[in-house]
Amino acid sequence: MTKLTRAALAERDARDPLAKFRGDFVLPDGVLYFAGNSLGALPRAAETRVAEVVAQEWGQDLVRSWNKHGWIDMPLRVGAKLAPLIGARANEVAAADSTSVNLFKLLASALKLRPGRKVILTEDLNFPTDHYIMQGLTRLLDGGCEVRTAPAEQIIGAIDETVAVVTLTEVDYRTARRHDMAAVTRAAHQHGALVLWDLSHSAGVVPTDLNGCGADLAVGCGYKYLSGGPGAPAFLFVAERLQDELEPPLAGWMGHAAPFEFSTDYRPAGGIARNLCGTPSVLGMAALEAALDVIAKAGIAAIRRKSVEMMDAFIALVEQECAGLDLEIVTPRDADLRGSHVALRHADGYPVMRALIARGVVGDFRAPDLIRFGITPLTLRHTDLWDAVAILRETLAGRTWDTPEYHSRAAVT
Ligand SMILES: *Cc1c(COP(=O)(O)O)cnc(C)c1O
Repeated sequence: MTKLTRAALAERDARDPLAKFRGDFVLPDGVLYFAGNSLGALPRAAETRVAEVVAQEWGQDLVRSWNKHGWIDMPLRVGAKLAPLIGARANEVAAADSTSVNLFKLLASALKLRPGRKVILTEDLNFPTDHYIMQGLTRLLDGGCEVRTAPAEQIIGAIDETVAVVTLTEVDYRTARRHDMAAVTRAAHQHGALVLWDLSHSAGVVPTDLNGCGADLAVGCGYKYLSGGPGAPAFLFVAERLQDELEPPLAGWMGHAAPFEFSTDYRPAGGIARNLCGTPSVLGMAALEAALDVIAKAGIAAIRRKSVEMMDAFIALVEQECAGLDLEIVTPRDADLRGSHVALRHADGYPVMRALIARGVVGDFRAPDLIRFGITPLTLRHTDLWDAVAILRETLAGRTWDTPEYHSRAAVT
């Protein structure tokens, strides 16, 4: 394989059709930002839009804004903008709550749709909050629900007629390994089970095709690759064919058929809206909506193409520049089998990442020993990959990470 050079990467930047989008984001000087898989960078349009909503819509128009500025429609309007990124129809997605809460809502609904079955099947190493939600549901339903776990590669074999719902995160938050959504969904349906996908590490960078693979339910996160801002509204998807069968466990007024009748009897709204619960977080929705407009302008197919190219280059650079420095590349080499971050194993990953951050290479660390580099095609240049790997090499070769300061743990890693 030919050696990658910084000059070759600069050429890629010069020809990059997405290069111009970098200017649409606020990026601090002196930072190479590789944590957009954890908190996406701030789109300038979101900054402007939130300021406008605060000053005009909240400040001046006050309560009239629910109608005048369409605040009340935000969950479904933002959901419709999300839909093309995940292979859904516009009426199958809503923006609401957090991913954890949406997972709770849809898992409880899924169990109701499969009376006589109690098992939620998931991957043993699924994202922790997903496990906690399932465990909480098991305690709440007291015998009406049990969680079965299997390693990623054994999930399909673990599906049987007792499984009500299979729930998996498409892209693994540690390794970036990706499930075959079509194969899992097919296997689940053969056994009469539903499938609920968590697209937190996919949405905005890995296009998924929920309807193409016949998926039933999905949830995902708004603040990672979607750049919706800290604590942004999450999303949920329900296939149209199931929408009117769902019995939402959190039956709030925003999911009522006619919230402003103020009837004390609950009647679920038709369609996706019944999965809403309380009043939408308008400022969060405004930021997320503005971010989605930027992603739509760039195009998810072009974003994915650049992501694949950058992932290949980053992995190649680590192999080329960091050989013999005790790193193990744990992210799959095959682009079809992975999402959009590179995970490297190092026994002292935590202090290594602290030292990188001190030099402006902002990635993150996942216990016990992985350092992660999120690849966000709208904000990163190809030369940033070179510069980050050069700093990684210097940090490891010079052991500059090995200080008491970098070993001490902060609350958020
Ligand atoms: C980030 C992430 C979440 C986040 O859940 P919140 O409730 O929004 O904090 C959930 N699941 C997965 C797989 C994630 O990666």
